[in-house]
Amino acid sequence: MTYFRENIERMAGYVPGEQPAAGAKVVKLNTNENPYPPSPKALEALRAIGEDALRRYPDPLATRFRAVVAEVLGVPVDWIIAGNGSDEVLTMILQAFVGPGDAVAYPMPTYVLYRTLTEIQEGRCVEVPFDEEYRLPAEELAAARAKLTFVASPNSPSGTAYGLKELEELAGRVPGVLVVDEAYVDFADATALDLVRRRDNVLVLRTLSKGYSLAGLRLGFGAGQPSLLEGLWKVKDSYNVDAIELAVGAAAFADQAYKIANAEKVKASRAKLAGELEALGYRVWPSQSNFLLARPPAGDAGRIYLALKAEGIFVRYFQQPALEDKLRITVGTDEQNGVLVRALEQVQGLRQ
Ligand code: PMP
Repeated sequence: MTYFRENIERMAGYVPGEQPAAGAKVVKLNTNENPYPPSPKALEALRAIGEDALRRYPDPLATRFRAVVAEVLGVPVDWIIAGNGSDEVLTMILQAFVGPGDAVAYPMPTYVLYRTLTEIQEGRCVEVPFDEEYRLPAEELAAARAKLTFVASPNSPSGTAYGLKELEELAGRVPGVLVVDEAYVDFADATALDLVRRRDNVLVLRTLSKGYSLAGLRLGFGAGQPSLLEGLWKVKDSYNVDAIELAVGAAAFADQAYKIANAEKVKASRAKLAGELEALGYRVWPSQSNFLLARPPAGDAGRIYLALKAEGIFVRYFQQPALEDKLRITVGTDEQNGVLVRALEQVQGLRQ
C-alpha cells in the first residue's frame, strides 16, 4: 500500500554527489565546485544585506539581478528568468512543456536530473546513447520528435562541448523546444547564447554555481525569447529567488573579470591534470568544463574510487552503463590535483 502517485513510487529519485560532514578534511573533487572563493564584491554585497531585506519578501521578478545579466550578455531584460539554481529553471521547464506521455530526448550519459524531472511529469524519456567520443547524436535526437530536447554543452560527465552550428541545426529539426544547458560554459571556448536571438524554440541555461564559485547560493537563470519564457513565469514559485541570492548574485555576475581570471586558472590546471593522468595511462576525454572524464588503464574505476575515498579524496563514480570504467574528476587547485595524482600513483603501485 502506498500513498504516492504510481510514477513517484516507481522512480529512483536523483542522488547528488556526497557532501562530507562540515569541517571534515577531504579533497573534494566530486561535485564540480570551483576551488576558488567567490568574488570579493559578492562577499561585500553579502555583508551589506540589511534586516529589511530579510524582513520583506524579495523581488518576485528578480529585476536587478536580471538587469545585470541582460547587460553583460547583451540581451533585453525580459529574455532572462532567474531560478533557485539552474536546477529550478529545469523544473520550471519540465512543468511548462511536458505532460504525461510527452517525449523528452537527450543524449546519454548526461545530467541525470533530466530523467528525474521527466519521470515526475510522467513524460517519456528518449535516451540516445553517445558514441565513445561523445559526439552529438543529432540524427537520433531529431528523430525522437520530442517536445523537449536537452543538450548539456559542455556535457556532464564527459566535459565535451558542441558547436553553435550543430546546435542550430538541431534546433531547426526538433519539433519542440531545445534546451542548451550551459552550466559549465565559463570554462569553455564558446557559447550557444546567440541561438536564442536566432531561434524562438531555444532556451540557454546558466548557473552561478560553477564559474562564479557560488554553488551554496543556489542561483541560475534561463535565457530565451519572451514568448518562450511566458510559460515559465506562470509555473515558477512567486518568490523563488531569495533576497540574499539576488544581492550577492548581481554583484558576482557584474564582476566578470574576477570570474574569467579564476576560469583561466582552472583551465590551466585542467590541462596539467589531464597530462598527468595520461602519463599514468588514463584515457582522458577532451574537456571544456571544470572536470575531466578519465578511464584508468585497467578500467577498475570502482576500485579506485573506493581507494581514493579511504584516503579522503572524493571523486565521482557513476555506476551506470558506459561509465562503470570511468571516473569524473573535478579540477581543483594544482595542490589538490597533486594530492590526487600522488594517490593514484600509489593505487597503481608506482609509489610506496
Ligand atoms: N546542469 C548541469 C549539466 C549540471 O551538472 C548542474 C550541476 N549539478 C546543473 C545544471 C545544476 O546547477 P545548479 O542547480 O547548481 O545551478
